Amino acid sequence: MNIDNPELLERYHKVLNHIRKLDPDQKVSLLAVSKTKPIEDIICLAEAGQKSFGENYLQEALTKISARPDLDWHFIGPIQSNKTKPIAEHFNWVHSVDRLKIAQRLSNQRPTNLPPLKILLEVNVDAEESKSGFTPDEVISVAAEIAELPNLALRGLMAIPAHHDTLETQRRPFRKMRELLETLQLQLPEQNLDTLSMGMSSDLEAAILEGATIVRIGTDIFGAREVKNNA
Ligand SMILES: *Cc1c(COP(=O)(O)O)cnc(C)c1O
Repeated sequence: MNIDNPELLERYHKVLNHIRKLDPDQKVSLLAVSKTKPIEDIICLAEAGQKSFGENYLQEALTKISARPDLDWHFIGPIQSNKTKPIAEHFNWVHSVDRLKIAQRLSNQRPTNLPPLKILLEVNVDAEESKSGFTPDEVISVAAEIAELPNLALRGLMAIPAHHDTLETQRRPFRKMRELLETLQLQLPEQNLDTLSMGMSSDLEAAILEGATIVRIGTDIFGAREVKNNA
Protein backbone atom coordinates (compact mmCIF):
# COMPACT_ATOMS: atom_id res chain seq x y z
CA MET A 1 0.00 0.00 0.00
CA ASN A 2 1.42 3.37 -1.00
CA ILE A 3 0.55 5.96 1.60
CA ASP A 4 3.05 8.55 0.44
CA ASN A 5 1.01 11.52 -0.79
CA PRO A 6 2.85 14.85 -0.63
CA GLU A 7 -0.03 16.85 -2.16
CA LEU A 8 -2.45 15.54 0.44
CA LEU A 9 -0.04 16.44 3.24
CA GLU A 10 0.48 19.90 1.81
CA ARG A 11 -3.28 20.60 1.68
CA TYR A 12 -3.68 19.17 5.19
CA HIS A 13 -1.00 21.43 6.65
CA LYS A 14 -2.45 24.41 4.84
CA VAL A 15 -5.83 23.78 6.48
CA LEU A 16 -4.20 23.29 9.90
CA ASN A 17 -2.29 26.55 9.53
CA HIS A 18 -5.42 28.40 8.46
CA ILE A 19 -7.26 27.12 11.54
CA ARG A 20 -4.37 28.00 13.82
CA LYS A 21 -4.28 31.55 12.48
CA LEU A 22 -8.02 32.02 13.17
CA ASP A 23 -7.86 30.21 16.52
CA PRO A 24 -4.62 31.00 18.33
CA ASP A 25 -5.97 29.52 21.61
CA GLN A 26 -6.34 26.13 19.92
CA LYS A 27 -9.94 25.55 20.97
CA VAL A 28 -10.91 24.20 17.56
CA SER A 29 -10.30 20.63 16.52
CA LEU A 30 -10.16 19.45 12.95
CA LEU A 31 -12.35 16.58 11.80
CA ALA A 32 -10.99 15.28 8.49
CA VAL A 33 -14.05 14.28 6.41
CA SER A 34 -12.78 11.27 4.47
CA LYS A 35 -16.01 10.03 2.82
CA THR A 36 -15.42 8.47 -0.61
CA LYS A 37 -11.63 8.71 -0.08
CA PRO A 38 -9.37 5.65 0.14
CA ILE A 39 -7.92 4.20 3.33
CA GLU A 40 -4.44 5.10 2.06
CA ASP A 41 -5.30 8.80 2.42
CA ILE A 42 -6.52 8.22 5.97
CA ILE A 43 -3.37 6.35 6.93
CA CYS A 44 -1.22 9.03 5.37
CA LEU A 45 -2.88 11.70 7.55
CA ALA A 46 -2.87 9.46 10.62
CA GLU A 47 0.92 9.15 10.23
CA ALA A 48 1.06 12.97 10.16
CA GLY A 49 -0.81 13.12 13.46
CA GLN A 50 -4.48 13.45 12.44
CA LYS A 51 -6.61 11.30 14.75
CA SER A 52 -10.26 12.21 14.00
CA PHE A 53 -12.06 11.25 10.79
CA GLY A 54 -15.65 11.86 9.67
CA GLU A 55 -17.64 9.47 7.50
CA ASN A 56 -21.16 9.63 5.99
CA TYR A 57 -21.69 6.25 4.38
CA LEU A 58 -22.00 3.35 6.79
CA GLN A 59 -20.68 0.39 4.77
CA GLU A 60 -17.69 2.34 3.53
CA ALA A 61 -16.99 3.59 7.03
CA LEU A 62 -17.13 0.13 8.62
CA THR A 63 -14.48 -1.15 6.23
CA LYS A 64 -12.20 1.76 7.09
CA ILE A 65 -12.81 1.42 10.83
CA SER A 66 -11.92 -2.26 10.74
CA ALA A 67 -8.59 -1.32 9.12
CA ARG A 68 -7.85 1.39 11.72
CA PRO A 69 -9.95 0.87 14.86
CA ASP A 70 -7.42 2.93 16.83
CA LEU A 71 -8.52 6.21 15.18
CA ASP A 72 -11.33 8.47 16.42
CA TRP A 73 -14.34 7.89 14.14
CA HIS A 74 -17.24 10.33 13.79
CA PHE A 75 -20.46 9.50 11.98
CA ILE A 76 -21.77 12.68 10.30
CA GLY A 77 -24.24 11.41 7.68
CA PRO A 78 -28.01 10.94 7.62
CA ILE A 79 -29.11 8.06 9.88
CA GLN A 80 -31.77 5.52 8.95
CA SER A 81 -33.27 3.99 12.06
CA ASN A 82 -32.51 0.43 10.91
CA LYS A 83 -28.78 1.32 10.72
CA THR A 84 -28.28 2.55 14.26
CA LYS A 85 -26.78 -0.66 15.67
CA PRO A 86 -23.48 -0.72 13.74
CA ILE A 87 -23.17 3.02 14.32
CA ALA A 88 -23.60 2.52 18.08
CA GLU A 89 -21.07 -0.33 18.02
CA HIS A 90 -18.27 1.17 15.93
CA PHE A 91 -18.15 4.95 16.24
CA ASN A 92 -16.87 7.27 18.97
CA TRP A 93 -19.07 10.22 17.98
CA VAL A 94 -22.33 10.82 16.09
CA HIS A 95 -22.96 14.40 14.88
CA SER A 96 -26.21 13.81 13.01
CA VAL A 97 -28.75 12.82 15.68
CA ASP A 98 -31.91 14.40 14.30
CA ARG A 99 -34.76 12.55 16.09
CA LEU A 100 -35.46 11.40 19.64
CA LYS A 101 -36.03 7.87 18.36
CA ILE A 102 -32.53 7.74 16.86
CA ALA A 103 -31.01 8.82 20.18
CA GLN A 104 -33.01 6.15 22.04
CA ARG A 105 -31.93 3.43 19.64
CA LEU A 106 -28.26 4.47 19.79
CA SER A 107 -28.38 4.39 23.59
CA ASN A 108 -30.07 0.97 23.67
CA GLN A 109 -27.61 -0.46 21.15
CA ARG A 110 -24.39 1.03 22.53
CA PRO A 111 -22.35 -1.86 23.98
CA THR A 112 -22.03 -1.26 27.71
CA ASN A 113 -18.36 -2.26 27.74
CA LEU A 114 -17.62 0.86 25.64
CA PRO A 115 -17.64 4.44 26.94
CA PRO A 116 -20.90 6.34 26.33
CA LEU A 117 -21.34 7.32 22.67
CA LYS A 118 -20.69 11.06 22.28
CA ILE A 119 -23.51 12.69 20.37
CA LEU A 120 -24.50 16.05 18.94
CA LEU A 121 -27.99 17.17 17.99
CA GLU A 122 -28.25 18.28 14.38
CA VAL A 123 -30.08 21.59 13.99
CA ASN A 124 -31.82 22.74 10.81
CA VAL A 125 -30.68 26.25 11.57
CA ASP A 126 -31.85 27.88 8.34
CA ALA A 127 -35.23 26.05 8.47
CA GLU A 128 -34.71 24.48 5.05
CA GLU A 129 -37.48 22.18 3.77
CA SER A 130 -35.04 19.69 2.32
CA LYS A 131 -32.81 19.31 5.36
CA SER A 132 -33.02 17.06 8.37
CA GLY A 133 -32.39 18.24 11.90
CA PHE A 134 -34.31 19.58 14.86
CA THR A 135 -35.70 23.10 14.84
CA PRO A 136 -34.15 25.28 17.57
CA ASP A 137 -37.41 25.00 19.58
CA GLU A 138 -37.37 21.21 19.31
CA VAL A 139 -33.78 21.11 20.57
CA ILE A 140 -34.80 23.02 23.69
CA SER A 141 -37.74 20.70 24.35
CA VAL A 142 -36.00 17.36 23.65
CA ALA A 143 -32.49 17.89 25.06
CA ALA A 144 -33.29 17.02 28.69
CA GLU A 145 -34.77 13.67 27.69
CA ILE A 146 -31.81 12.83 25.45
CA ALA A 147 -29.36 13.88 28.17
CA GLU A 148 -30.91 11.21 30.44
CA LEU A 149 -30.25 8.32 28.05
CA PRO A 150 -27.76 6.05 29.82
CA ASN A 151 -25.28 5.06 27.12
CA LEU A 152 -24.95 8.42 25.40
CA ALA A 153 -23.03 11.56 26.31
CA LEU A 154 -24.83 14.59 24.86
CA ARG A 155 -22.03 17.06 24.10
CA GLY A 156 -23.58 19.80 21.95
CA LEU A 157 -24.89 20.76 18.55
CA MET A 158 -24.10 20.39 14.86
CA ALA A 159 -25.34 22.32 11.82
CA ILE A 160 -24.97 22.45 8.06
CA PRO A 161 -26.33 25.91 7.17
CA ALA A 162 -27.61 26.88 3.75
CA HIS A 163 -25.05 28.26 1.35
CA HIS A 164 -24.34 31.95 1.98
CA ASP A 165 -21.90 34.05 -0.04
CA THR A 166 -20.37 36.61 2.26
CA LEU A 167 -18.58 36.26 5.56
CA GLU A 168 -21.25 38.30 7.33
CA THR A 169 -24.19 36.24 6.01
CA GLN A 170 -22.28 33.02 6.74
CA ARG A 171 -21.75 34.13 10.34
CA ARG A 172 -25.47 34.63 11.10
CA PRO A 173 -26.58 30.96 11.33
CA PHE A 174 -23.40 30.07 13.22
CA ARG A 175 -24.11 32.86 15.71
CA LYS A 176 -27.62 31.43 16.17
CA MET A 177 -26.06 28.05 16.90
CA ARG A 178 -23.76 29.51 19.53
CA GLU A 179 -26.69 31.26 21.20
CA LEU A 180 -28.71 28.04 21.12
CA LEU A 181 -25.88 26.14 22.79
CA GLU A 182 -25.64 28.87 25.46
CA THR A 183 -29.37 28.50 26.14
CA LEU A 184 -28.97 24.74 26.48
CA GLN A 185 -26.02 25.16 28.84
CA LEU A 186 -28.24 27.25 31.14
CA GLN A 187 -31.03 24.70 30.89
CA LEU A 188 -28.80 21.68 31.60
CA PRO A 189 -25.97 22.99 33.81
CA GLU A 190 -24.92 19.47 34.87
CA GLN A 191 -24.30 18.40 31.28
CA ASN A 192 -20.89 18.87 29.65
CA LEU A 193 -22.19 20.78 26.61
CA ASP A 194 -18.89 21.97 25.17
CA THR A 195 -19.13 21.17 21.46
CA LEU A 196 -20.27 23.11 18.39
CA SER A 197 -19.62 21.16 15.19
CA MET A 198 -19.88 23.69 12.40
CA GLY A 199 -17.87 24.92 9.44
CA MET A 200 -16.90 23.09 6.25
CA SER A 201 -14.44 23.95 3.47
CA SER A 202 -16.52 26.89 2.21
CA ASP A 203 -17.38 28.53 5.55
CA LEU A 204 -14.59 27.54 7.92
CA GLU A 205 -13.62 31.09 8.84
CA ALA A 206 -17.17 32.24 9.68
CA ALA A 207 -17.70 29.16 11.86
CA ILE A 208 -14.50 29.68 13.84
CA LEU A 209 -15.24 33.37 14.35
CA GLU A 210 -18.59 32.34 15.89
CA GLY A 211 -17.16 29.74 18.24
CA ALA A 212 -16.99 26.40 16.43
CA THR A 213 -15.10 23.76 18.42
CA ILE A 214 -15.05 21.09 15.68
CA VAL A 215 -14.74 22.01 12.01
CA ARG A 216 -15.55 19.31 9.46
CA ILE A 217 -13.29 19.65 6.43
CA GLY A 218 -13.32 17.37 3.41
CA THR A 219 -12.60 19.02 0.06
CA ASP A 220 -9.86 21.38 1.23
CA ILE A 221 -7.90 18.43 2.63
CA PHE A 222 -8.62 15.54 0.26
CA GLY A 223 -9.52 17.41 -2.92
CA ALA A 224 -12.84 17.28 -4.75
CA ARG A 225 -15.05 14.20 -4.37
CA GLU A 226 -16.76 12.26 -7.10
CA VAL A 227 -20.51 12.35 -6.66
CA LYS A 228 -21.78 9.33 -4.80
CA ASN A 229 -25.46 8.54 -4.50
CA ASN A 230 -25.77 5.48 -2.30
CA ALA A 231 -25.75 5.56 1.45
C1 LIG B 1 -19.15 16.12 3.26
C2 LIG B 1 -19.42 16.80 4.55
C3 LIG B 1 -18.50 17.74 5.09
C4 LIG B 1 -17.25 18.19 4.37
O1 LIG B 1 -17.58 19.10 3.37
P1 LIG B 1 -16.46 19.84 2.47
O2 LIG B 1 -17.23 20.93 1.82
O3 LIG B 1 -15.95 18.83 1.51
O4 LIG B 1 -15.42 20.35 3.40
C5 LIG B 1 -18.79 18.27 6.33
N1 LIG B 1 -19.91 17.94 7.01
C6 LIG B 1 -20.81 17.06 6.53
C7 LIG B 1 -22.00 16.72 7.33
C8 LIG B 1 -20.59 16.48 5.28
O5 LIG B 1 -21.50 15.61 4.80
